[in-house]
Amino acid sequence: MNHNIYMDYNATAPVLAQAKDAVMRALDFAGNPSSVHRMGRLAHRLVEDSRESVRALVNANGEARVVFTSGGTEANAICLLGCGRNRVVASSVEHPAVRNVKENVELISVDKNGIVDASHLEKLLSKNGEDTIVSVMLANNETGVIQPVREIAKIAHKHGALFHCDAVQAAGKIEIDFDDIDADYMSISAHKFGGPKGVGALIAKPAAPLSALVRGGGQENGLRGGTENVPGIAGMAAAAEVSLAKLAVEEKKLLSLRDDLEKQISKIDNQVQIIGADAKRLPNTSFIVMAGVPAETQVAGFDLAGISVSAGSACASGKIKQSPVLAAMGISEIDGSCALRVSLGQENNQEDINKFIVVWDEIRTRALKANEANAKKGNAA
Ligand code: PLP
Repeated sequence: MNHNIYMDYNATAPVLAQAKDAVMRALDFAGNPSSVHRMGRLAHRLVEDSRESVRALVNANGEARVVFTSGGTEANAICLLGCGRNRVVASSVEHPAVRNVKENVELISVDKNGIVDASHLEKLLSKNGEDTIVSVMLANNETGVIQPVREIAKIAHKHGALFHCDAVQAAGKIEIDFDDIDADYMSISAHKFGGPKGVGALIAKPAAPLSALVRGGGQENGLRGGTENVPGIAGMAAAAEVSLAKLAVEEKKLLSLRDDLEKQISKIDNQVQIIGADAKRLPNTSFIVMAGVPAETQVAGFDLAGISVSAGSACASGKIKQSPVLAAMGISEIDGSCALRVSLGQENNQEDINKFIVVWDEIRTRALKANEANAKKGNAA
């Protein structure tokens, strides 16, 4: 049987063997981390050690707080709704988990590569900076474009605003330096870097204001009530450790595969549009416009050929609608509807890229022929 080629790592990554093992081992920890007896203390130790692995992944100092959550969405929500600031100012290419965190999120415009317009941010912060939290992602889930978050944090702080960085797509793919970025808060999610789904973390500076959305029994230092997801947390920590150890090697490998993919596609179609290609991007992501061929047709064609790719973000696919990310970048609706996201990961190799290219060419040739035939029929009618 043909094996499936998975190229949708930005939607979610396959669980790493080490993370699976860590989950299985943690399932045997019978105690509740809040219990004072020995079994409770063992579970508590596992959770506390896992905080260290999360800090290491984003290079946060030992003082930084780590709040375990159910994923990136909840980490973003705890921060943006629990920081005590009434105004949320976010880039117009943020994930819906930020853009829709509450009513009236104010959006910062971006340039054609999706990079935040610093002067627009300055303007938005010229009033009520001290009642504002600015939220800008480290890397975009659809395009992979990397934001200059260190500079954005500086602007936010100059105006008395807090700064949150959604690093969900960047974690485990590129080096992150929480301390150097000078973010007050940062969100990550385990399933994007080989951990289990349904677990994530908010990292916060020790003095950054934060209050719980769910109070309950006061777990996570009063910031998130509810018994901790001990197996999920252990799996996340193991995935963080493996990703960090392999980061440099994986980054180089993925960059070379992605660049080859784009080069081969440009040879087939020298007009091809690769969205965000002029900006710094994640090494694994390519957002490619196959002009005249709806993304849904492409996704279905690749699926039939045993290749999993996606039409923009997983949350938005299924709806034939312009991605707000592409709209904010000034990409036309027609081009946006033909954009396919390829996101590579550690199981991909050169053979996968070659197969992808063959299928891409087949889908394009087939669709263009069909378009031509339809046009002829239209003319004849
Ligand atoms: N932020 C970004 C940039 C994402 O790409 C995603 C998921 O796609 C999220 C947040 C939400 O994370 P989760 O699925 O863990 O809730």
